[in-house]
Amino acid sequence: MKSCCCEIGDSKDCTSVCKECSNTGKPVMEITLKSMVKKPVLEAIGNPEGFYCCETPTCEVVYFNNEQQVYLHKQDVKVRVGIKETENPVPVCYCFGWTQKKIFDQVMQQGHSTAVREISAKIKAGECACEIKNPSGRCCLGSVNKVVKRGLKLYGNK
Ligand SMILES: [Zn+2]
Repeated sequence: MKSCCCEIGDSKDCTSVCKECSNTGKPVMEITLKSMVKKPVLEAIGNPEGFYCCETPTCEVVYFNNEQQVYLHKQDVKVRVGIKETENPVPVCYCFGWTQKKIFDQVMQQGHSTAVREISAKIKAGECACEIKNPSGRCCLGSVNKVVKRGLKLYGNK
């Protein structure tokens, strides 16, 4: 049996726990949900408010809402969710089209990646649209940094 915080009577926290993996999700904005979820699925959901995003790589759930008892999976979402994919393409930055492969290829060829610098410059220029392009609705720089670091570890010069 999976443990649930409901059992200890904390119903507030429970709304943010993904029932399929028991991990806590992150709140997702209505605008993100509306632009990420496939139209027929979205129409079937009455109210796009109060959803959470499950970020467990092995969990098939992308968005969930325990109050409405709605669970949306990878196939309900328009884009590939990078964090839940292990085969190419694994999207990392949705606004400017960076994939894990593109970053790894750069590291292999040049010994470093320009991803963070290029993305930061575009964010400064106000060109990013994470809230409607990234399934998490948040800025991708954190995950880009992680992928670059992983790339350096795997393919960089030691
Ligand atoms: Zn989950």
